[in-house]
Amino acid sequence: MSTTANTSSDAISRSMIELLEKADPTVANIMSEEGVRQATTLELIASENHVSSAVMHTMGSWMTNKYAEGYPGARYYGGCEYYDQVENLARDRAKELFNCGFANVQPHCGANANIAAFMALLSPGDRVLSLPIKSGGHLSHGLKPNFSGTFFEIHDYDLDPETELLDYDAIEKLAHEVRPQLIICGYSAYPRTIDFARFRAIADSVDAYLMADIAHIAGLVAAGVHPSPFPHAHVVTTTTHKTLRGPRGGLVLSDDEEIAKKVDRKVFPGSQGGPLMHMVAAKAVAFHEALQPSFKTYSQAVVDNAKALAEALVGHGYRLCSGGTDNHLMLVDLQPRDAELTGADAEQWLESAGIITNKNGIPNDPRPPRVTSGLRLGTPALTTRGLGPSEMVEVAALLDRVMGSGGDESTCAAVREEVRALCERFPLPH
Ligand SMILES: *Cc1c(COP(=O)(O)O)cnc(C)c1O
Repeated sequence: MSTTANTSSDAISRSMIELLEKADPTVANIMSEEGVRQATTLELIASENHVSSAVMHTMGSWMTNKYAEGYPGARYYGGCEYYDQVENLARDRAKELFNCGFANVQPHCGANANIAAFMALLSPGDRVLSLPIKSGGHLSHGLKPNFSGTFFEIHDYDLDPETELLDYDAIEKLAHEVRPQLIICGYSAYPRTIDFARFRAIADSVDAYLMADIAHIAGLVAAGVHPSPFPHAHVVTTTTHKTLRGPRGGLVLSDDEEIAKKVDRKVFPGSQGGPLMHMVAAKAVAFHEALQPSFKTYSQAVVDNAKALAEALVGHGYRLCSGGTDNHLMLVDLQPRDAELTGADAEQWLESAGIITNKNGIPNDPRPPRVTSGLRLGTPALTTRGLGPSEMVEVAALLDRVMGSGGDESTCAAVREEVRALCERFPLPH
């Protein structure tokens, strides 16, 4: 790996890359370049993070070699003694972390966790009330081409057009019209606190199940810096790789024994075959990390950094959807700063300056999804590197220099050098 990437994940990566260079120099080269990219750029994508070397190592291990279809104590393959131990550990730690009675740690990703939850709670054709992707929901909550939109009757609720906040009274009214079997809360681009108790009251008033998909905020929930969906939601689904800072994967949680049994059946054999046991082992390690006091400190810093970044961006003339952020992310409306500036241009110019973001539609965006008028920014990855509120002010200034430059090459190149220097001050985690 290049000497510019003077980081600790380096130490592991170096021995791994040396091995790979002999076996497959082509992939070794691609991976080295990606390692350098991660070490020398600022990661502001709200759904991304940098895992610890311990999590990284566990994924790349012999735990990948075995089939373990079934569950601990009830496998369809021999030789699962240690797989049973590690899966039980992952389940127990997940339950402790989220303070609930049941965890299934096998879903390969967040979308798979949602498929299992849908299958456990619904029959094909049942009605689901959810926030559409254009307003901050997730594709697995009912987008037409997705499993959810193909097999269920999806009804949309929306944000209040003025405040850009969840309008619980309007959701309640809609729930009484639609009479859904399932209401989904939890989002991909909603910067505010979710009132799970209010959602449960709405669900109860129409006899619907409540599912909370906390994919984005799971780490904040685990650390107690966002309210918990328990005891309100019947089922909680999440990813393990966003604010929770574990390996890529999914997780289903519940406090209801009947639902728990159904979820297990719908993960396996309902929607998956053999679990990815190297990922289950890595989930166990990540949950252990998240149970440490230092994870609370980290998660509070994620939220503090988001506030600092948001405030600094407002100072540069940008508008934040809903007026700010309570969590790890913000949705930046670029139009007040420059009516011509699109999310697509901003994303591309910023990438050339070493700042990685994603364009994102804002509520009622006049531009199409591939262009957009907004940018979604999050602080989980920068906070993992150790950047704090004063660096957020620096980052906001760099963002504004690039976005205010009209994509000017020399400006982007100059910012690229400053980004490199900032990354050297804050190396990737051990
Ligand atoms: C990221 C996300 C998911 C899906 O996660 P994958 O692991 O990409 O399948 C599900 N729901 C929400 C709300 C998300 O933000």
